[in-house]
Amino acid sequence: MSSFDVKYWRDILRDVSIPRDHPRRDSLLTRERLVEGFLEGYVVPQGLIAHGRGEAFDYLIGEITIEPALEAMKAAVALLLISRRPVISVNGNVAALVAEHVVDLAREVNALVEVNLFYRSRSRIEKIREIFKRHGIEILGADEAYECTLPELFSERRRVDCRGIYVADTVLVAVEDGDRTEALKKMSKKVIAVDLNPLSRTSLAADITIVDNIVRAFPTMVKIARELKNMSKNDLEKIVKSFDNRANIAKVLDHICSRLRSIASSLMYESEK
Ligand code: ATP
Ligand code: MG
Repeated sequence: MSSFDVKYWRDILRDVSIPRDHPRRDSLLTRERLVEGFLEGYVVPQGLIAHGRGEAFDYLIGEITIEPALEAMKAAVALLLISRRPVISVNGNVAALVAEHVVDLAREVNALVEVNLFYRSRSRIEKIREIFKRHGIEILGADEAYECTLPELFSERRRVDCRGIYVADTVLVAVEDGDRTEALKKMSKKVIAVDLNPLSRTSLAADITIVDNIVRAFPTMVKIARELKNMSKNDLEKIVKSFDNRANIAKVLDHICSRLRSIASSLMYESEK
């Protein structure tokens, strides 16, 4: 193969179907969507690997939305609702898995959506722009005339939209690298992160970390936004103020530890029988 042969891979992958009763069906279907995004040319191979790292943590969590994640989502939605210029930052993985829910959330909390890519190319940006267009919105970050630069960052992701992330007070990032999260924090922005790894630099640097799979977190945040959006600013501020991110991450780690301990003891019990 001199260049990447999409047809070759489509032929290989075409006849593989996932049985309806497969215990890991949802997770496998999610992978299929990312692979499709890869073959379409807007998910990068590194995005597939990053998803694998996320899946490993999801397995440890139990592939459910846990209570601390729900608490973090509530605080996140409240913060988005009281922010003056909230922006949801999207990349290839997010576009492949949850574009429609991102659009719904953006509408509920009045946020802008901006594409920001580590492996930036005109063609990826255009493809992601098209996906969001199909869901009814024009995203920022696709027009070079409005390019501003994040001072704290040296990769391609330092290029942001002057009308979006550059002037945002709150930025929601998902499946995001730690360098960029830290750069946004250095610019005094509030950062909300959706990240399955409670120990990633992103998780530890964000103001509000939602440790959940994006495929569960985004639809859930849309529901929460519909519940909270009529609350008073005062009450929303109280929700945000009473949230403690470090304590919340500690609760996530406690959940993983006690879940693993309980699995270990039942395996031990079975082996002693
Ligand atoms: P950091 O740079 O923050 O230390 P990292 O280098 O381990 O993290 P990156 O590839 O930079 O990882 O960022 C991707 C992050 O997104 C990882 O922490 C990964 O666990 C998480 N992730 C991947 N897929 C999902 C998903 N579907 N839902 C939520 N989080 C995910
Ligand atoms: Mg990283």
